Amino acid sequence: MDRTVLLSKARRLVVNIGSAVVAPAENGLQTTRIERLAREVSDCCREGYEVILVSSGAIAAGVRKLGLAGKPATIPLKQAAAAIGQSSLLWAYERSFAKHGRKVAQVLLTREDLANRHRFLNARNTLLTLLEYGVVPIINENDTVAVEEIRFGDNDTLAALVTNLVGADLLILLSDVEGLYTADPRKDSRGTLLPLVERVTAEVEAIAGESGGPEGTGGMASKVQAAKRAAASGVATAILNGKRAGLLKAFLRGEAVGTLFLPRESRLTSRKHWIAYTLAPKGRLVLDKGAKAAILKGGKSLLPSGILRIEGRFAVGDAVLCVDEAGEAFAKGLINYPSAEVGQICGAKSSEIPRILGYSAGDEVIHRDNLVLL
Ligand code: GLU
Repeated sequence: MDRTVLLSKARRLVVNIGSAVVAPAENGLQTTRIERLAREVSDCCREGYEVILVSSGAIAAGVRKLGLAGKPATIPLKQAAAAIGQSSLLWAYERSFAKHGRKVAQVLLTREDLANRHRFLNARNTLLTLLEYGVVPIINENDTVAVEEIRFGDNDTLAALVTNLVGADLLILLSDVEGLYTADPRKDSRGTLLPLVERVTAEVEAIAGESGGPEGTGGMASKVQAAKRAAASGVATAILNGKRAGLLKAFLRGEAVGTLFLPRESRLTSRKHWIAYTLAPKGRLVLDKGAKAAILKGGKSLLPSGILRIEGRFAVGDAVLCVDEAGEAFAKGLINYPSAEVGQICGAKSSEIPRILGYSAGDEVIHRDNLVLL
Protein backbone atom coordinates (compact mmCIF):
# COMPACT_ATOMS: atom_id res chain seq x y z
CA MET A 1 0.00 0.00 0.00
CA ASP A 2 1.18 3.49 -0.81
CA ARG A 3 2.51 5.48 2.14
CA THR A 4 0.70 8.68 1.19
CA VAL A 5 -2.64 6.92 0.71
CA LEU A 6 -2.21 5.09 3.99
CA LEU A 7 -1.43 8.25 5.93
CA SER A 8 -4.09 10.34 4.24
CA LYS A 9 -6.74 7.88 5.43
CA ALA A 10 -5.53 7.77 9.03
CA ARG A 11 -7.68 9.71 11.45
CA ARG A 12 -7.65 7.78 14.72
CA LEU A 13 -4.17 7.32 16.16
CA VAL A 14 -2.86 5.34 19.10
CA VAL A 15 0.39 6.96 20.23
CA ASN A 16 2.49 4.97 22.68
CA ILE A 17 5.06 6.93 24.68
CA GLY A 18 7.79 4.81 26.21
CA SER A 19 9.44 5.21 29.61
CA ALA A 20 12.71 6.11 27.93
CA VAL A 21 10.99 9.17 26.47
CA VAL A 22 9.01 10.50 29.45
CA ALA A 23 10.87 9.09 32.47
CA PRO A 24 14.36 7.82 31.74
CA ALA A 25 15.71 6.06 34.83
CA GLU A 26 18.53 8.46 35.50
CA ASN A 27 16.45 11.65 35.29
CA GLY A 28 12.87 10.93 36.45
CA LEU A 29 9.82 12.54 34.88
CA GLN A 30 10.65 14.73 31.89
CA THR A 31 8.10 17.51 32.27
CA THR A 32 9.55 19.65 29.50
CA ARG A 33 9.34 16.75 27.08
CA ILE A 34 5.80 15.96 28.19
CA GLU A 35 4.88 19.59 27.53
CA ARG A 36 6.35 19.38 24.04
CA LEU A 37 4.55 16.12 23.29
CA ALA A 38 1.27 17.56 24.62
CA ARG A 39 1.70 20.49 22.25
CA GLU A 40 2.37 18.22 19.28
CA VAL A 41 -0.57 15.95 20.10
CA SER A 42 -2.85 18.96 20.65
CA ASP A 43 -1.84 20.27 17.22
CA CYS A 44 -2.78 16.88 15.73
CA CYS A 45 -6.16 17.04 17.46
CA ARG A 46 -6.76 20.50 16.04
CA GLU A 47 -5.97 19.16 12.58
CA GLY A 48 -8.74 16.60 12.98
CA TYR A 49 -6.91 13.55 14.32
CA GLU A 50 -8.31 11.63 17.25
CA VAL A 51 -5.45 10.63 19.54
CA ILE A 52 -5.39 7.97 22.23
CA LEU A 53 -2.18 8.06 24.24
CA VAL A 54 -0.64 5.08 25.95
CA SER A 55 2.04 6.26 28.33
CA SER A 56 4.63 4.42 30.36
CA GLY A 57 6.69 6.08 33.02
CA ALA A 58 4.69 5.45 36.19
CA ILE A 59 7.15 3.03 37.72
CA ALA A 60 10.19 5.07 36.71
CA ALA A 61 8.63 8.25 38.12
CA GLY A 62 7.67 6.45 41.33
CA VAL A 63 11.18 5.06 41.76
CA ARG A 64 12.54 8.56 41.55
CA LYS A 65 9.95 9.97 43.99
CA LEU A 66 10.73 7.23 46.50
CA GLY A 67 14.45 7.88 46.13
CA LEU A 68 15.19 4.27 45.23
CA ALA A 69 18.55 3.47 43.67
CA GLY A 70 17.29 1.42 40.74
CA LYS A 71 14.43 -0.73 39.42
CA PRO A 72 12.37 -2.15 42.33
CA ALA A 73 13.37 -5.72 43.09
CA THR A 74 10.06 -6.99 44.46
CA ILE A 75 6.62 -6.94 42.88
CA PRO A 76 4.94 -5.09 45.79
CA LEU A 77 7.59 -2.36 45.60
CA LYS A 78 7.16 -2.11 41.83
CA GLN A 79 3.40 -1.82 42.31
CA ALA A 80 3.84 0.79 45.02
CA ALA A 81 6.19 2.74 42.74
CA ALA A 82 3.59 2.58 39.96
CA ALA A 83 0.89 3.95 42.26
CA ILE A 84 3.15 6.77 43.42
CA GLY A 85 4.42 7.61 39.95
CA GLN A 86 1.14 7.37 38.03
CA SER A 87 -0.38 10.42 39.72
CA SER A 88 2.69 12.55 38.89
CA LEU A 89 2.68 11.25 35.33
CA LEU A 90 -0.97 12.13 34.77
CA TRP A 91 -0.63 15.46 36.51
CA ALA A 92 2.23 16.37 34.16
CA TYR A 93 0.07 15.48 31.14
CA GLU A 94 -3.01 17.23 32.55
CA ARG A 95 -1.11 20.46 33.14
CA SER A 96 0.61 20.34 29.76
CA PHE A 97 -2.55 19.63 27.76
CA ALA A 98 -4.48 22.32 29.68
CA LYS A 99 -2.16 24.92 28.17
CA HIS A 100 -3.68 24.03 24.81
CA GLY A 101 -7.24 23.90 26.10
CA ARG A 102 -7.33 20.12 25.93
CA LYS A 103 -8.71 17.80 28.61
CA VAL A 104 -7.23 14.42 29.39
CA ALA A 105 -8.62 11.28 31.04
CA GLN A 106 -6.79 8.53 32.89
CA VAL A 107 -7.62 4.96 31.89
CA LEU A 108 -5.81 2.11 33.65
CA LEU A 109 -6.28 -1.37 32.19
CA THR A 110 -5.24 -4.94 32.91
CA ARG A 111 -5.23 -7.76 30.38
CA GLU A 112 -8.17 -9.25 32.21
CA ASP A 113 -10.24 -6.15 31.45
CA LEU A 114 -9.78 -6.74 27.74
CA ALA A 115 -10.00 -10.54 27.87
CA ASN A 116 -13.54 -10.31 29.18
CA ARG A 117 -15.67 -9.51 26.11
CA HIS A 118 -18.19 -7.54 28.14
CA ARG A 119 -15.51 -5.37 29.74
CA PHE A 120 -13.71 -5.07 26.38
CA LEU A 121 -16.82 -3.60 24.79
CA ASN A 122 -17.41 -1.41 27.82
CA ALA A 123 -13.86 -0.04 27.70
CA ARG A 124 -14.33 0.62 23.98
CA ASN A 125 -17.52 2.61 24.61
CA THR A 126 -15.83 4.68 27.29
CA LEU A 127 -12.84 5.49 25.09
CA LEU A 128 -15.01 6.38 22.10
CA THR A 129 -17.11 8.64 24.31
CA LEU A 130 -13.97 10.43 25.51
CA LEU A 131 -12.95 10.98 21.88
CA GLU A 132 -16.39 12.32 21.06
CA TYR A 133 -15.89 14.95 23.73
CA GLY A 134 -12.49 15.89 22.35
CA VAL A 135 -10.71 14.49 25.40
CA VAL A 136 -7.33 12.75 25.07
CA PRO A 137 -7.45 9.39 26.90
CA ILE A 138 -4.12 8.51 28.52
CA ILE A 139 -3.86 4.79 29.09
CA ASN A 140 -1.40 2.81 31.17
CA GLU A 141 -1.33 -0.69 32.51
CA ASN A 142 -2.90 -0.83 35.97
CA ASP A 143 0.44 -1.94 37.39
CA THR A 144 -0.68 -1.58 40.99
CA VAL A 145 -3.09 -4.52 40.77
CA ALA A 146 -1.71 -6.42 37.79
CA VAL A 147 -0.09 -9.65 38.90
CA GLU A 148 1.73 -11.86 36.40
CA GLU A 149 -1.28 -13.78 35.04
CA ILE A 150 -3.26 -10.67 34.15
CA ARG A 151 -0.45 -8.44 32.92
CA PHE A 152 0.12 -7.16 29.40
CA GLY A 153 3.77 -7.15 30.38
CA ASP A 154 4.78 -4.08 28.46
CA ASN A 155 3.07 -1.05 27.02
CA ASP A 156 3.90 -1.92 23.40
CA THR A 157 1.61 -4.94 23.74
CA LEU A 158 -0.99 -2.86 25.56
CA ALA A 159 -0.89 -0.24 22.78
CA ALA A 160 -1.36 -2.88 20.06
CA LEU A 161 -4.41 -4.29 21.85
CA VAL A 162 -5.79 -0.79 22.40
CA THR A 163 -5.38 -0.19 18.65
CA ASN A 164 -7.77 -3.04 18.03
CA LEU A 165 -9.99 -1.98 20.95
CA VAL A 166 -10.68 1.48 19.54
CA GLY A 167 -10.44 0.56 15.84
CA ALA A 168 -7.51 2.94 15.30
CA ASP A 169 -6.05 3.56 11.83
CA LEU A 170 -2.44 3.89 12.92
CA LEU A 171 -0.21 2.84 15.81
CA ILE A 172 2.74 5.10 16.60
CA LEU A 173 5.41 3.93 19.03
CA LEU A 174 7.56 6.75 20.38
CA SER A 175 10.84 5.45 21.67
CA ASP A 176 14.40 6.68 22.27
CA VAL A 177 15.69 5.25 18.98
CA GLU A 178 15.05 6.37 15.40
CA GLY A 179 13.37 3.12 14.41
CA LEU A 180 14.27 -0.47 13.66
CA TYR A 181 17.90 -0.99 12.71
CA THR A 182 19.49 -3.93 10.92
CA ALA A 183 21.63 -4.28 14.08
CA ASP A 184 21.21 -2.72 17.54
CA PRO A 185 22.83 0.73 17.08
CA ARG A 186 23.83 0.81 20.75
CA LYS A 187 26.01 -2.25 20.26
CA ASP A 188 26.91 -2.32 16.60
CA SER A 189 27.78 0.83 14.64
CA ARG A 190 27.20 -0.93 11.30
CA GLY A 191 23.44 -1.10 11.87
CA THR A 192 21.35 0.92 9.42
CA LEU A 193 17.81 2.19 9.83
CA LEU A 194 15.08 0.26 8.04
CA PRO A 195 12.63 2.89 6.74
CA LEU A 196 10.00 0.36 5.66
CA VAL A 197 9.02 -3.14 6.78
CA GLU A 198 6.47 -4.67 4.45
CA ARG A 199 5.86 -7.68 6.62
CA VAL A 200 7.07 -8.89 10.02
CA THR A 201 8.85 -12.06 8.98
CA ALA A 202 10.99 -14.36 11.14
CA GLU A 203 13.99 -12.45 9.82
CA VAL A 204 12.58 -9.11 11.01
CA GLU A 205 11.82 -10.68 14.39
CA ALA A 206 15.40 -11.92 14.60
CA ILE A 207 16.75 -8.43 13.82
CA ALA A 208 14.66 -6.99 16.64
CA GLY A 209 16.12 -9.62 18.95
CA GLU A 210 15.37 -9.84 22.60
CA SER A 211 17.04 -6.62 23.65
CA GLY A 212 15.29 -4.39 26.16
CA GLY A 213 16.35 -0.84 26.89
CA PRO A 214 17.30 0.10 30.43
CA GLU A 215 14.01 1.90 31.21
CA GLY A 216 11.19 0.28 29.31
CA THR A 217 10.13 -3.32 29.60
CA GLY A 218 9.86 -4.43 26.03
CA GLY A 219 12.71 -3.16 23.89
CA MET A 220 12.65 -3.54 20.11
CA ALA A 221 11.33 -7.11 20.17
CA SER A 222 8.05 -6.10 21.80
CA LYS A 223 7.71 -3.15 19.40
CA VAL A 224 8.01 -5.47 16.42
CA GLN A 225 5.47 -7.85 17.99
CA ALA A 226 3.14 -4.89 18.51
CA ALA A 227 3.56 -3.96 14.84
CA LYS A 228 2.75 -7.55 13.87
CA ARG A 229 -0.42 -7.53 15.95
CA ALA A 230 -1.51 -4.19 14.53
CA ALA A 231 -0.73 -5.39 10.99
CA ALA A 232 -3.04 -8.38 11.57
CA SER A 233 -5.93 -6.00 12.15
CA GLY A 234 -5.03 -4.07 9.00
CA VAL A 235 -3.25 -1.24 10.79
CA ALA A 236 0.18 0.23 10.03
CA THR A 237 2.70 0.96 12.80
CA ALA A 238 5.47 3.50 13.02
CA ILE A 239 8.44 3.54 15.36
CA LEU A 240 9.71 7.10 15.83
CA ASN A 241 12.18 8.82 18.11
CA GLY A 242 9.98 10.55 20.70
CA LYS A 243 12.93 12.50 22.07
CA ARG A 244 13.14 14.57 18.90
CA ALA A 245 10.69 17.42 18.44
CA GLY A 246 8.50 17.54 15.36
CA LEU A 247 8.88 13.93 14.22
CA LEU A 248 5.25 13.00 14.84
CA LYS A 249 4.01 15.74 12.55
CA ALA A 250 6.73 15.10 9.99
CA PHE A 251 5.71 11.46 9.87
CA LEU A 252 2.03 12.28 9.49
CA ARG A 253 2.89 14.68 6.66
CA GLY A 254 4.43 11.74 4.83
CA GLU A 255 8.12 12.35 5.46
CA ALA A 256 10.24 9.21 5.56
CA VAL A 257 11.20 9.32 9.23
CA GLY A 258 11.42 6.31 11.57
CA THR A 259 10.34 2.85 10.52
CA LEU A 260 6.95 2.21 8.97
CA PHE A 261 5.44 -1.29 9.17
CA LEU A 262 2.79 -1.90 6.55
CA PRO A 263 -0.52 -3.56 7.47
CA ARG A 264 -1.66 -6.94 6.17
CA GLU A 265 -4.14 -6.73 3.31
CA SER A 266 -6.35 -9.47 4.74
CA ARG A 267 -7.36 -7.96 8.03
CA LEU A 268 -8.85 -9.85 10.93
CA THR A 269 -12.15 -8.55 12.24
CA SER A 270 -11.88 -6.87 15.62
CA ARG A 271 -13.47 -9.89 17.32
CA LYS A 272 -11.10 -12.39 15.69
CA HIS A 273 -8.16 -10.15 16.56
CA TRP A 274 -9.39 -10.19 20.16
CA ILE A 275 -9.47 -14.00 20.11
CA ALA A 276 -6.02 -14.24 18.53
CA TYR A 277 -4.14 -11.67 20.57
CA THR A 278 -5.98 -10.51 23.67
CA LEU A 279 -7.12 -13.82 25.14
CA ALA A 280 -4.58 -15.98 26.92
CA PRO A 281 -4.99 -19.64 25.82
CA LYS A 282 -6.10 -21.98 28.61
CA GLY A 283 -5.20 -25.23 26.90
CA ARG A 284 -4.13 -26.99 23.72
CA LEU A 285 -5.82 -29.46 21.42
CA VAL A 286 -3.53 -31.75 19.47
CA LEU A 287 -5.15 -32.35 16.06
CA ASP A 288 -4.55 -34.94 13.36
CA LYS A 289 -3.48 -34.05 9.81
CA GLY A 290 -7.01 -34.21 8.42
CA ALA A 291 -8.40 -31.74 10.95
CA LYS A 292 -5.45 -29.42 10.42
CA ALA A 293 -6.00 -29.38 6.66
CA ALA A 294 -9.75 -28.90 7.05
CA ILE A 295 -9.17 -25.85 9.25
CA LEU A 296 -6.28 -24.33 7.34
CA LYS A 297 -7.35 -25.05 3.77
CA GLY A 298 -11.07 -25.60 4.01
CA GLY A 299 -11.92 -22.91 6.57
CA LYS A 300 -13.90 -25.57 8.46
CA SER A 301 -15.00 -25.84 12.08
CA LEU A 302 -13.20 -28.22 14.43
CA LEU A 303 -15.07 -31.48 15.01
CA PRO A 304 -14.28 -33.94 17.82
CA SER A 305 -13.12 -36.64 15.40
CA GLY A 306 -9.90 -34.79 14.52
CA ILE A 307 -8.75 -34.29 18.12
CA LEU A 308 -6.00 -36.68 19.22
CA ARG A 309 -5.60 -35.41 22.80
CA ILE A 310 -5.96 -32.35 24.98
CA GLU A 311 -3.61 -30.48 27.28
CA GLY A 312 -4.63 -28.12 30.08
CA ARG A 313 -7.93 -27.40 31.79
CA PHE A 314 -10.47 -25.09 30.24
CA ALA A 315 -14.13 -24.15 30.53
CA VAL A 316 -16.74 -23.45 27.84
CA GLY A 317 -15.87 -20.20 26.04
CA ASP A 318 -12.18 -20.28 26.95
CA ALA A 319 -9.55 -19.75 24.27
CA VAL A 320 -7.50 -22.81 23.30
CA LEU A 321 -4.72 -23.37 20.79
CA CYS A 322 -4.95 -25.94 18.03
CA VAL A 323 -1.57 -27.59 17.54
CA ASP A 324 -0.39 -30.24 15.11
CA GLU A 325 1.35 -33.47 16.04
CA ALA A 326 4.71 -31.68 16.02
CA GLY A 327 3.33 -29.26 18.64
CA GLU A 328 3.14 -26.26 16.32
CA ALA A 329 0.20 -23.95 17.04
CA PHE A 330 -1.70 -23.02 13.84
CA ALA A 331 -5.10 -21.82 15.08
CA LYS A 332 -6.82 -20.47 18.18
CA GLY A 333 -10.47 -20.52 19.04
CA LEU A 334 -13.22 -20.42 21.64
CA ILE A 335 -14.19 -23.86 22.82
CA ASN A 336 -17.78 -25.13 23.09
CA TYR A 337 -17.11 -27.91 25.62
CA PRO A 338 -15.11 -28.00 28.88
CA SER A 339 -11.82 -29.92 28.94
CA ALA A 340 -13.21 -32.95 30.79
CA GLU A 341 -15.88 -33.40 28.10
CA VAL A 342 -13.51 -32.79 25.18
CA GLY A 343 -11.41 -35.57 26.71
CA GLN A 344 -14.44 -37.86 26.47
CA ILE A 345 -15.52 -37.01 22.93
CA CYS A 346 -12.14 -36.65 21.24
CA GLY A 347 -11.81 -39.00 18.31
CA ALA A 348 -15.58 -39.60 18.18
CA LYS A 349 -18.05 -38.60 15.44
CA SER A 350 -20.19 -35.54 16.18
CA SER A 351 -23.32 -37.73 15.96
CA GLU A 352 -22.04 -39.66 18.98
CA ILE A 353 -21.78 -36.59 21.25
CA PRO A 354 -25.31 -36.93 22.78
CA ARG A 355 -24.75 -40.61 23.59
CA ILE A 356 -21.33 -39.99 25.21
CA LEU A 357 -22.12 -36.81 27.13
CA GLY A 358 -25.88 -37.13 27.57
CA TYR A 359 -26.37 -33.78 25.78
CA SER A 360 -24.96 -31.82 22.87
CA ALA A 361 -23.73 -28.23 22.64
CA GLY A 362 -23.44 -28.64 18.87
CA ASP A 363 -21.44 -30.72 16.40
CA GLU A 364 -18.44 -28.41 16.55
CA VAL A 365 -15.90 -28.34 19.34
CA ILE A 366 -14.84 -24.95 17.96
CA HIS A 367 -17.11 -23.25 15.46
CA ARG A 368 -15.31 -21.65 12.52
CA ASP A 369 -16.78 -18.23 13.44
CA ASN A 370 -14.78 -18.47 16.67
CA LEU A 371 -11.63 -19.90 15.08
CA VAL A 372 -8.66 -17.79 13.95
CA LEU A 373 -5.70 -19.00 11.89
CA LEU A 374 -2.38 -17.92 13.37
N1 GLU B 1 3.42 0.36 32.77
C1 GLU B 1 4.79 0.64 33.09
C2 GLU B 1 4.93 2.04 33.69
O1 GLU B 1 4.10 2.87 33.52
C3 GLU B 1 5.71 0.58 31.88
C4 GLU B 1 5.69 -0.66 31.06
C5 GLU B 1 6.66 -0.54 29.86
O2 GLU B 1 7.68 0.12 29.99
O3 GLU B 1 6.36 -1.05 28.79
O4 GLU B 1 5.91 2.34 34.32
